[in-house]
Amino acid sequence: MLLLGRFVHLHAKHCGPFTALGLGRAPRSGARSCSAMCRHLRVLVDMDGVLADFEGGFLKKFRARFPEKPYIALEDRRGFWVSEQYGQLRSELSEKAISIWESKNFFIELDPIPGAVEAVKQMAKLENTDVFICTSPIKKYRYCAYEKYAWVEKHFGQEFLEQIVLTRDKTVISGDLLIDDRPDITGAEPNPSWEHVLFTACHNKHLQLQPPSRRLHSWAEDWRAILDSKRSPPSRAI
Ligand SMILES: [Mg+2]
Repeated sequence: MLLLGRFVHLHAKHCGPFTALGLGRAPRSGARSCSAMCRHLRVLVDMDGVLADFEGGFLKKFRARFPEKPYIALEDRRGFWVSEQYGQLRSELSEKAISIWESKNFFIELDPIPGAVEAVKQMAKLENTDVFICTSPIKKYRYCAYEKYAWVEKHFGQEFLEQIVLTRDKTVISGDLLIDDRPDITGAEPNPSWEHVLFTACHNKHLQLQPPSRRLHSWAEDWRAILDSKRSPPSRAI
């Protein structure tokens, strides 16, 4: 009984409980392994800077709220942390920058990155592909966590709320790919299961990646080819 339980658990992970119990449809050939037939590619897609235009939304609101203050044009952005670069420009600007994304309606009003919504909707419809939106809320969570859910519902529909993963540590989330604009993603797990594909953003476009690290330059690029490169080759008949 114990062995049967373990068998069901292991196979249910990729194929669902009915298949594992022999209740699903039998593979047509009868020869291919369950794992090759059923293994889904799991893609984790970051939100800010990949789906939602954090940098553009920030700059627009910063200039509106502090019209007399200097700002950093998007082409001059360097480094992941906006507040650090603003602090280097003038020390008082760091906390002013932070106050922008801590404000009500900052996250919900972000525009989508061009092509992102269409691409991810198409991705989610691909066979053998599971897509999750994997995003880190800011620690001052009063508006951010709520508005991230509301943003996904607004642009992807209510059913996509099932696909949200909110975490401050993406290394502990398992997946095959993580599409993210942050160059350095570290956390409790030293060897994350995913390959990080760097999504090009104004703050990272100047970085030289060391092979085999790779980029997705925009959603107009062939993101399907990147997904296909991670899929298992079809198994041969025994
Ligand atoms: Mg991001």
